[in-house]
Amino acid sequence: MISPEEIASNLQQQRQRIKDAATRAGRDPTDIRLIAVSKYQPADAIEAAYQAGHRDFGENYAQEIVQKSLELSHLKDLRFHMIGHLQTNKVKKIISKFNAIHTVSSLKLVEELNRRSAISQSDKAQAPLAVMIEVNLSGEPQKKGCQAKDAATLVAAIQASPALQLSGLMTMPAAHPDPEASRPIFEELTRLRDQLGGRQSLPRLSMGMSRDAEVAIACGSTDLRIGTAIFGSRPPREKS
Ligand SMILES: *Cc1c(COP(=O)(O)O)cnc(C)c1O
Repeated sequence: MISPEEIASNLQQQRQRIKDAATRAGRDPTDIRLIAVSKYQPADAIEAAYQAGHRDFGENYAQEIVQKSLELSHLKDLRFHMIGHLQTNKVKKIISKFNAIHTVSSLKLVEELNRRSAISQSDKAQAPLAVMIEVNLSGEPQKKGCQAKDAATLVAAIQASPALQLSGLMTMPAAHPDPEASRPIFEELTRLRDQLGGRQSLPRLSMGMSRDAEVAIACGSTDLRIGTAIFGSRPPREKS
C-alpha cells in the first residue's frame, strides 16, 4: 500500500481534476461524485482516505466487502458502492454493507435485491436502496451488464420495487490506452438515459475511471469510479 500522505495528495489531485474538467464542460463540479475504488486494497488504505475526508468507496467482491466492513466498523459514515458483478446468492450476505449497487443487470437480481432490501428496511427503517442498471455497450461478451435493448424492462421492474430507488445507469468501456476511445460508449449511455425517461427517472450516470475521467465528465458522468489514480496500482489478487 502507498503511504497515507500519498493517498491524501492523490485524492486532492483527483478532486482538482474533476473541478477542472467540470469547468471546461460548463458543469457544476458538486454534481459529480468521486468514488474511490478500493478493490484489492487493504482496509488501511480506505482508512487513510477516510482520514483525508473521503467517504465514498467502490468495492467489487462480496468476500472483500464483508471482511473490510468488519475491519472498518469504527468508521460510521462510510458509504460503499457495489461496482462489481453481484451474484443473486450473495445478495443476502452483502446488502446491508452497501449504500448503492451500480451493477444491476437482470430481473432475477432486481427481485432478490428488492426482497432483501425490504427485509433489512423493516429492521432499520432505512431509505430504499439506490440501484443503477449496468449496461454492456462495449459488445465484449465477457463483460457483465444487460444489453441496451433490455434496459427498459429493468427500469420498469426497479420502479415497481418499493424497496429500491432507481438512481441511474452504469457502463464500463473496453480497456484502451486512449481515453477518447471511451467517448462513443459514454455518449451512447447518455443517449440511452434520454430514451429511458431522462434525468427525471435516471439522474445519475456511473461512468469514467482513472484513465478516462475527463471524457466521462464531458459526456455527463455524475459518478466517477477511480482506483489506481488514488491508491496506486492494485496488489495482486489473493486466491479466491
Ligand atoms: C477497478 C474498477 C474501476 C477503477 O479502475 P481504475 O482504472 O483503477 O481507476 C472502476 N470501475 C470498475 C467497475 C472497476 O472494476
